[in-house]
Amino acid sequence: MRYVSFERDGRVRPGAIDGDDVVAIASETLLDYVALPTARRIRAHTQERFPLAGVRLVAPVRPRKNVFCVGRNYLEHARESARADGRELKLPGVPTFFSKAPTAIADPGATLVLQAKISQEYDWEAELAIVIGARVKDVAPAQALDAIFGYTCLNDVTARDLQRAHGQWFKGKSLDGSCPIGPWIVSPDEIGNVQALEIALTLNGTVKQRGNTADMIFDVRRIIAELSRGMTLEPGDVIATGTPEGVGFAQTPPEFFKDGDVVEVAIEHIGTLRNTIRIV
Ligand code: MG
Repeated sequence: MRYVSFERDGRVRPGAIDGDDVVAIASETLLDYVALPTARRIRAHTQERFPLAGVRLVAPVRPRKNVFCVGRNYLEHARESARADGRELKLPGVPTFFSKAPTAIADPGATLVLQAKISQEYDWEAELAIVIGARVKDVAPAQALDAIFGYTCLNDVTARDLQRAHGQWFKGKSLDGSCPIGPWIVSPDEIGNVQALEIALTLNGTVKQRGNTADMIFDVRRIIAELSRGMTLEPGDVIATGTPEGVGFAQTPPEFFKDGDVVEVAIEHIGTLRNTIRIV
């Protein structure tokens, strides 16, 4: 099943895709729907349907909390980052977690308005995002996938100069409207093996990043197990799982977004998240 949040006649509602239509869900938001007990979810599906082409999709969920993220979770990206920073490559024994402010969330298809006075180095990071579907704590890796509602695409847009200046990652990755997600959340049964998905990012049609979730240093099970140790995860929480190699700052010479760029994050069995860049 593919779940969306859609706008029609000025109202944002949750829905599920059925063929070329979106079927409305009775909950106020998709976040509310995700929080329902599994048995009650199906009863929330209505008979009301609209052609998908006639609605505007918005970010499927806008989490109440910060978006959780994993840094340097693909070996080749960890290697290119170390090289670009002039550091020695050191792999951590546990995932490197950080977070992004929820006000950073942006819609699929949206123009991302990025301010030149804030940063000169807006960069891209294609990522698989997990949407949590249950309230869990201290989850064992073997049970971790049961806590997942679904998966979506996320672009962890980063202001590299801010990231460097502030000594940690939060500020440079939390700017308003800089974190598009979507276009929909795909349930795990449609994904198959989550550790075997092709993931790519194209900029104006040129492939910049290409990887596979098989190359994660910490897989989805381990990420959920580690993050939930002593810390409750709740329905609707979003976890970005890291990016493969090919980010802009590690290119020679470094490359960053320009006004008018079109950026696409594509993940196998999920879809394509497309955004236009506006630098003002
Ligand atoms: Mg990232």
